[in-house]
Amino acid sequence: LGNKIYYYESIGSTNEKAKILAVNGEPHGTLILSEKQTMGKGRIGRKWESPKNEGIWLSMILRPNLSPEEAPKITLVAAVACAKATRKHGINCAIKWPNDILYEGKKLAGILTEISAEIDRINHVIVGVGINVNTKKFSVELESIATSLYLIKKEPVDRKKVLIDFLKEFEYFYSKLEKGEFQDVLKEWKALNCTIGRNVKIIGKTKEIEGIAFDIDELGALLIRKNDGSVERILSGDVSLR
Ligand code: ATP
Repeated sequence: LGNKIYYYESIGSTNEKAKILAVNGEPHGTLILSEKQTMGKGRIGRKWESPKNEGIWLSMILRPNLSPEEAPKITLVAAVACAKATRKHGINCAIKWPNDILYEGKKLAGILTEISAEIDRINHVIVGVGINVNTKKFSVELESIATSLYLIKKEPVDRKKVLIDFLKEFEYFYSKLEKGEFQDVLKEWKALNCTIGRNVKIIGKTKEIEGIAFDIDELGALLIRKNDGSVERILSGDVSLR
């Protein structure tokens, strides 16, 4: 990771830039970093606020040797890496399936995985990571739902250190995935998550499902037991979890 780094003072979206670079043949492990994103992206067309110098706004180009259906595993790897890296800085955070890192219910970091694949193979995967590091004040809309390392620790945190910790953890768990040791990632994920065991509502494009999230499966899909006892398997794609 990071043999090649593209660094920007300001950019629309690191994921969008990464996609263009990936199509142009940039290698596995290329990093795109920006001090600020003017059009930072969340899932399902949402926005990710990325103010100047306050966070880690990065994307990685990955060319994994996985089948397309296995790609969601990479989001789990990134979530574990993100949680572990922030925990190193004394933050007792947890993973909310599939792509958020929370501290006391507030969002500290988010992950946006975008996949380009044919039926039987992956072209590339872009993993975007946003970690709120030194944000002192969020916008009115985010104030009650977002937090930062600064707000939790009540002191500035060295972004470089958090970045290095994240990259080290990501490399470690990604190599597990590549070696066929995804069980180890799942174990860590389960130890760090705050979704399993909870009553959840899944809001999809066409339907809503309510029940208890009781596990995730080998591919990272969430398993929900509904009130009638039946089990639904939820892929992370386009759903919201409440
Ligand atoms: P859901 O909770 O419905 O599954 P999500 O939490 O996965 O959605 P994303 O699409 O990953 O949401 O992230 C976008 C949302 O995160 C925005 O709609 C906004 O509410 C919130 N958000 C935007 N910028 C930030 C930020 N810097 N820190 C924390 N939260 C943010």
